[in-house]
Amino acid sequence: MMLVSPSDIGAINRGRILQALYDNGPTSRADLARKAGVNRTTVTGIVQPMIEEKLLVEGKAARPAVQGGKPARPLFFNRDAPMLAAVLLLPGRIQTCLVTLTGEISALEKATFDVNGDVEAFKRILTETLARSLEQAAQPPFGIGIAAGGMIDSDRGVIVTVSLAPVLTGLPITDILGTHFGLPVVIDHHPRALLVGDRWFGPGRGQQNFAAIYTGEVLGGAYYINGQVYRGLAGSGGELGHTVVQLDGHACNCGKQGCWETIATLSWLRREAERLGLDRPDTVTSARLVAEAEGGGSRAESLLDRYARNIAVGIANLQQTLSLNFYILHGDAATGGAGLSSAIERHVRSFVLTRPNQDITIVSNGLGEGHTALRGAAGLVVSEHLKLKI
Ligand SMILES: [Zn+2]
Repeated sequence: MMLVSPSDIGAINRGRILQALYDNGPTSRADLARKAGVNRTTVTGIVQPMIEEKLLVEGKAARPAVQGGKPARPLFFNRDAPMLAAVLLLPGRIQTCLVTLTGEISALEKATFDVNGDVEAFKRILTETLARSLEQAAQPPFGIGIAAGGMIDSDRGVIVTVSLAPVLTGLPITDILGTHFGLPVVIDHHPRALLVGDRWFGPGRGQQNFAAIYTGEVLGGAYYINGQVYRGLAGSGGELGHTVVQLDGHACNCGKQGCWETIATLSWLRREAERLGLDRPDTVTSARLVAEAEGGGSRAESLLDRYARNIAVGIANLQQTLSLNFYILHGDAATGGAGLSSAIERHVRSFVLTRPNQDITIVSNGLGEGHTALRGAAGLVVSEHLKLKI
């Protein structure tokens, strides 16, 4: 019985080689063969057409490791290859840009829209903003990737609902942009785009299992399991912010009660800051609390620790369920830097039963949420265009 057809094997090998390149940076053919677990002939067969297509370039020859050996020329993605277009769509805010295959962002454009406004006005703002980014591309991009907040049907390319931006509800956004610009369009949920950004261009490089956790006005997350992004049915998997952590707890934006999101977002933090009498409670962020705690602010310190514990409880549940061991923080939580991530790590360890040799690591992606999400949206196009299973 044949389980994998020859064309599947070709796609798998191509995926392995390209992932090895993303994971290791510029790499010679010989090293690439070793790291991807394929032979030299296979590597040549796969990379040669990509060099001809100008997707990959050969760098300067490195000095040979063995005397008299042939100098190896490292291969990497071509910065001058056609770019990827990326869109970040959050309630009331649009960002668009171009991203190179190596992850550099340019032609960043921003706009705002009325979350309760007219859908035609929204479409016009979106297409005009993206057009301004696309005008700056030297050649047509491979495609458009969208990272969007709310509930997304990634299979059908539709925004199902966004409680904080009703104008987006039911919008067939990939069709709209695909028709307007004549380019392939892919969409995914904002936290999953952060995860893809981590996987291609950030601390998730080379990891086989990890989760991305975002805190801000909302709380979201996404997971990468055994080398694949987990999407669930029609991309509905991973509504992590709405897992219940408190029976009969606070009312949530989703209409239910006691969701993780009700105790680990900026609104919780600001409500508590007000209750404790902190200065300017409505502008409190993790970054500010870390600075105040370092300056001896005991109320800031204890609030920060409670916030860390509230973030930790959801991560602990995820750890108990999937045992991913590696978590990357985004959004407000990431602005708390190493101080906050280590406090969260300590609380997670206190919640879960750790096994021998099990190391739970929590890091922040300090690049800034906009940039990681845009890179992630571009990463969705990379995955699609290069037929990578991510
Ligand atoms: Zn909820």
